[in-house]
Amino acid sequence: MTESQNVRVRFAPSPTGPMHIGGLRTAIFNWLFARHHKGAFILRIEDTDQSRYKPEAEDLIYRALDWVGMDVDESPRDGGDYGPYRQSERLERYQQWATWLVENDKAYYDYTTSEELEQINEAKKKRGEPPGYDRRHRDITTEERAKLKAEGRPEVIRFKMPLTGNTEVEDMLRGKIDFDNSTLGDTVLLKSDGFPTYHLANVVDDHFMEISHILRANEWIASAPLHKQVYAAFGWQMPQIMHLPVLLNPNGKGKMSKRELQDDKGNVIPVLVHRYEELGYLPNAMMNFLTNIGWTFGEDQEVFSVEEAIERFDGTRVNPANSAFPIDKLRWFNGIYMREKTSVEELIEQFKPLLEKEGLPVDDEKLRIIVPAIQTRIETLNEFLDIAGFVFREDFEPAAAEEHIQKKMDAESTRRALQLAYDALQDMEFNAEAMEEPMRQLAKDNGLKVGQLFGTLRVATSAQKIAPPLFDTFVALGKDETLRRIEQSIAIMGAELPENAENQP
Ligand code: GLU
Repeated sequence: MTESQNVRVRFAPSPTGPMHIGGLRTAIFNWLFARHHKGAFILRIEDTDQSRYKPEAEDLIYRALDWVGMDVDESPRDGGDYGPYRQSERLERYQQWATWLVENDKAYYDYTTSEELEQINEAKKKRGEPPGYDRRHRDITTEERAKLKAEGRPEVIRFKMPLTGNTEVEDMLRGKIDFDNSTLGDTVLLKSDGFPTYHLANVVDDHFMEISHILRANEWIASAPLHKQVYAAFGWQMPQIMHLPVLLNPNGKGKMSKRELQDDKGNVIPVLVHRYEELGYLPNAMMNFLTNIGWTFGEDQEVFSVEEAIERFDGTRVNPANSAFPIDKLRWFNGIYMREKTSVEELIEQFKPLLEKEGLPVDDEKLRIIVPAIQTRIETLNEFLDIAGFVFREDFEPAAAEEHIQKKMDAESTRRALQLAYDALQDMEFNAEAMEEPMRQLAKDNGLKVGQLFGTLRVATSAQKIAPPLFDTFVALGKDETLRRIEQSIAIMGAELPENAENQP
């Protein structure tokens, strides 16, 4: 690339449903490339397939881009000098250029009906040939054409692919890829409803929007020779092109599914971007994680800021091999971002809506105590409620008696341990650091292991086996509530004992 070239790249999703994680990755690579070269990042909505169009999809595209913090220079929402940016608003252009191709003998009208196409494919199948239109209307006379048209048949425009020779596509990652023209068909460019196909709309728009580089998923490689020929037919220069590796399912088999998956540990693996948001992943962790799939920062460094990625993202170091979607790695990244790149204050703000959604009181004081205590213990935002939701619950449900009983203990020793703690805590100052030592001593003095005492207290106050550090929990709950919960557990354990056991020596 010459330094003087004005870099303009586009992300061109089809609004056929919620944004897929693979689409977000494609957008990220385009955006980083644009920002590195101080160029423009354009969002173009490719909505020419009316049968698959979903009106809510466009909003979800903006939401995904906004979520990870990618700013857009030109789009239907942001405007720009090359609009409109929705293909359905550019139909005349496509019609005009398709007609131009016909007039210049680069394309032709085809009147084959869908029934006839089926028959062609049937016959080809019998002969063991690959399916595809047989070019029956490629060279018909004007009279024949007029006759077919008069029959009221559907009219499409097909590209006249050269029948012999090769088409060479230069891919920024793969170098030259050679295609044998005899294996390529005469693809439809304009459909009978007047809408262009992807191939025509994409080429016309990339040309008139002055796109300099196309970074798109490698599933489009097979279309590249057609696009190259269409550019040549128009006499336009084709942008440089890079086919990006795609995401495979976490087991490495097949292109990443469109449906939500689960790994063998039961982790949900969403495929839609907004689901990651819902499940408590941080956008900056997501950005870092996705940038690493198929691109290498260098020096074995995986954790880096967006600014650092922009600095290096010049289009090199993209690995053409498809890669499996490493969900564990995403959790790992998210954990790092939660611990190291997000302040307690920021986390508190993120947790508040979770509490609200769960109908729990948003208690700032409790949040300020418990959040620093759990920051290193959770990997997604949503785990906050799993680990610490009990602190906020006013309708706390105590655990069953047997859950209180620690190793080598029984109902009576458990009840006694809880009672000892209850009594000791009455006079203690509720300060996490100050409480720990005397409570350890209490265990020792009474022939208990620290783990036994603390374990049963954890269950009594949280009804969970995994909870934040014990004394932070006590402080967050406050003295009254801590004692109330322990008292409740003492009663539960007492009820477990044989009658009058309490009075026995
Ligand atoms: N609309 C196409 C898609 O959603 C765009 C492919 C391209 O970038 O050329 O995959």
